[in-house]
Amino acid sequence: MADSSDILTGLDPEQAAAVTAPAGPLCILAGAGTGKTRAITHRIAHRVRSGQVRSQHVLAVTFTARAAAEMRARLGQLGADGVQARTFHSAALRQVRYFAQRLFDGREMPELLESKARLVGLAATRAGLKIDGTGARDLAGEIEWAKASLVEPDDYAAVAGKAMREPPFEVGRIAQVYAHYERIKRAQGVIDFEDMIRAAIWALEEHADVAEQIRSQYRHFVVDEYQDVNPMQQRLLDAWLGGRDDLTVVGDASQTIYSFTGASATYLVGFKRRHPDARVVRLIRDYRSTPQVVGLANSVISRARGDLARLRLELVGQRPAGPEPATRVFADEPGEAAAVAARCAELIAGGTPAREIAVLFRINAQSEVYQEALAEAGVPYVVHGADRFFERAEVRQAMIVLRAATRTPPAGETLPEVVVQALEGMGWRPGEAPAGGALRERWEAVAALVALAEGMPDRTLEEFNEELSRRAALQHVPTVDGVTLSSLHSAKGLEWDAVFLVGLTEGTLPVIHARSADAVEEERRLLYVGITRARHTLWLSYASARSPGGRARRASRFLPSAEPARTAPAPKGAVAGRVKRVMAVSCRVCGTGLINGVDRKLGRCASCPSDLDEELLGRLVDWRARLAQVQRVPPFVVFTDVTLA
Ligand code: ATP
Ligand code: MG
Repeated sequence: MADSSDILTGLDPEQAAAVTAPAGPLCILAGAGTGKTRAITHRIAHRVRSGQVRSQHVLAVTFTARAAAEMRARLGQLGADGVQARTFHSAALRQVRYFAQRLFDGREMPELLESKARLVGLAATRAGLKIDGTGARDLAGEIEWAKASLVEPDDYAAVAGKAMREPPFEVGRIAQVYAHYERIKRAQGVIDFEDMIRAAIWALEEHADVAEQIRSQYRHFVVDEYQDVNPMQQRLLDAWLGGRDDLTVVGDASQTIYSFTGASATYLVGFKRRHPDARVVRLIRDYRSTPQVVGLANSVISRARGDLARLRLELVGQRPAGPEPATRVFADEPGEAAAVAARCAELIAGGTPAREIAVLFRINAQSEVYQEALAEAGVPYVVHGADRFFERAEVRQAMIVLRAATRTPPAGETLPEVVVQALEGMGWRPGEAPAGGALRERWEAVAALVALAEGMPDRTLEEFNEELSRRAALQHVPTVDGVTLSSLHSAKGLEWDAVFLVGLTEGTLPVIHARSADAVEEERRLLYVGITRARHTLWLSYASARSPGGRARRASRFLPSAEPARTAPAPKGAVAGRVKRVMAVSCRVCGTGLINGVDRKLGRCASCPSDLDEELLGRLVDWRARLAQVQRVPPFVVFTDVTLA
């Protein structure tokens, strides 16, 4: 048996228990930043290196391509190369593609649809519905929900009614659009994302020989972010398992943020019921964020209501104290964006790498103004999320140009040359990057395609085009070093040194169409996910400008005591001074800020855990009294930068 003891160093006792648990069902239930993902990568590596399992027999599933790539990298570092770490989609795609000849009677696998919106538009027209781009996207989202929830067009109206959906159109009409959409797809011989997973399920459930091969290949399963699994993905997981139970799942009910796509924490919560002999491990120490960030996260989620609220786990921060989260209000959005860009530039000048900074927003439309502001400030940035990259007009145009170029191949020996030649045909010039703004951004998006071609000089143009379609379908975005611009949804599982949560107004978070109590709770969890992405520096802001023809925007109800400042501002120095003194209270043994341990464990440090002496206790009590005063001050009056070193 190979030595794998080094894998256990750097784990706390609960994490180690999860890592070394014997084969069989295991469920890790824990809050954000407690090391869930770390625990499962170490568990896989430990089992592989100690000879319990072979790396090629493990299938680890996560929710984003980026998380999967990170998991592969971490497994490599831990000496467990060869483990398949994939998204549900990419695992399904790989298996279906492998068995395509067998499954599609000797024909090629149907082409993957890059985006639903166009076909949905067509389907809507056939159903007699006039819609615009937004309507098409809304309908596409609803069809996605139905498919992920395993609801067929004929059953849609009844189920949507029962599930109390808030669909964008009348349910009967949506059912018609859904049915037309499926018909058009079949006629055109294309399949969408959900079909890919359904094809894998069908392959496993209906083809015993295929199932046998896939099941003998994969014997040990791991699912990260299990709180966001949807019925279709669960069915695929069940089909993979085929009655076996060597399955590790990890999740946090407080981070359920995909129910609009049919996901549900039911599977996480009901895991023990489905697997009565499952081991359950709970982690509570937060290793990611400063006690200040952890404190805010706890306070936001402590007000959660509804079914998932009782599953909330209080986090205990382990890291040294850092700056207090900054809350800012601005007159308008461009002003907010300019301030964020300026602060990013400052952080970068101060030594924070650009890739360690993220600006997170609720809806993708918010991205534009930040792109402009960052470009203006000369700060490099990356727009996260393939929906953005591959839906960019210039990228789609470039892909069309490149496809056309296969018919009349441009001169060149190598792929990058051919690609550049073809792109010049649409007016793009290498080495002529515009200075800034939206033009620069468009230029860079196309340049990212050239960079991709440079990474695979031996491929033909046909192969390159195929690769682009595959990436578009699987959301693999070419990476550049820069500040990440991302939606809150696609930021899950990730972490940055500095995180900017922007546009935190009523109507944006919670988003305007979150009308039911459940929908509002999901928005609260989304903020919780956002806050817990920050290791050190956290910024929350919004702009109070009136929306066109509307009232002044109000701060999000989720912000701590979110009444916007109506009273005269409190003396800045006084507030800052108080907070400073508070944060100076840290454990003499381990140095951890004690803010977090105060409520429950007064008298003991929650981190190391050593007893606190009289003097420290006195200061903590003093702090609580002072905090009571500070809290009476509306939070948006505290505009001063409070440094808490
Ligand atoms: P999320 O809920 O956001 O997905 P998570 O529970 O998966 O979070 P990880 O990403 O695994 O958390 O870990 C958060 C951070 O804490 C990472 O930087 C990780 O390396 C670090 N970490 C985890 N466990 C430990 C530990 N025992 N000692 C030191 N650092 C740790
Ligand atoms: Mg994680």
